[in-house]
Amino acid sequence: RSKASGRNRYTFFALEMQLEVEKEQQVEKELKVAIADNQLCLYYQPLLNASTEALIGAEVLVRWPHPERGLIPPFDFIPIAEKTGLITKLDDWVLETATQQISMWVHQGIDAPVLSVNISANRLNQKDFAQFVQKVIAKYRIPPETLCIEITEQNMIANLDNVYSTLTLLQQLGVKIALDDFGTGYSSLSYLKRLPVDKLKIDRSFVMDMHEDPQDKAIIKTILELGHGLGLWVNAEGVENEIQIQMLKDLGVDEFQGFFFSRPLPLAEFEAKYLPATVLESS
Ligand code: C2E
Ligand code: MG
Ligand code: MG
Ligand code: MG
Repeated sequence: RSKASGRNRYTFFALEMQLEVEKEQQVEKELKVAIADNQLCLYYQPLLNASTEALIGAEVLVRWPHPERGLIPPFDFIPIAEKTGLITKLDDWVLETATQQISMWVHQGIDAPVLSVNISANRLNQKDFAQFVQKVIAKYRIPPETLCIEITEQNMIANLDNVYSTLTLLQQLGVKIALDDFGTGYSSLSYLKRLPVDKLKIDRSFVMDMHEDPQDKAIIKTILELGHGLGLWVNAEGVENEIQIQMLKDLGVDEFQGFFFSRPLPLAEFEAKYLPATVLESS
């Protein structure tokens, strides 16, 4: 191989990297505008009681309806938002919009489902996060327990003391806390005992193959024993078929979430499909 071809290859990769950087900068620029102009939107995925299959709440999942590129899923912009610091504004917008939605349901006399909001490590670790939640709850006057904050194990590693005091403040407010993607991170056991958490969400990767892979089933069983032993509510996400449902019921899972029941839905569809029943039940 000649030196020249090596250099060409280097140039090629440098060019690719340059394009990648430019693409990210473009996304960053557009995302900034999208957040400021209220262009993002929320989808709602039902959370169901595993024994009755009644609606308990919904996970709020952000989408970006892009004028040229269609509906962009979170995996294509959340990482960029995290890298550039835009995630703070994004997470705050999602939290405030979800809170506003709860207050609208309350005003309409609807028995508001609990809304679960994903908060990234960056945002959770900022000192003013709990204060922001308190401010939003006060502004829209919602019952605090209708709001649940989903955090991942990844959030813990960065700064356990900081996370501990933030979560304690949130719990004092009455907000619920869920550990998302549970089982995929590290050091689960020591902090679980210390942190004020209400719910564990078993990661989708374990649920996916549990009907074929005894090891995945064993992990789920262990997470359930651990969670229930600590008095926590346990959710299984990514439920896609009836075999999984039966197995998860037999193992004692408390809450289902997955495409088998429903994909994440736009607000109008979620309300039409799930909220009239809630109104009837409560009247
Ligand atoms: P997550 O918090 O673990 O959310 C669950 C993801 O699993 C959602 O993907 C949901 O559509 C998907 N899912 C649920 N049930 C099934 C199923 O049965 N099969 C399959 N294949 N998938 C299922 P989505 O909406 O694409 O979100 C992906 C991730 O993006 C979320 O994972 C969360 O980490 C992040 N995310 C979404 N919205 C927000 C947000 O507002 N703020 C932040 N910081 N992150 C968000
Ligand atoms: Mg989540
Ligand atoms: Mg999850
Ligand atoms: Mg997940």
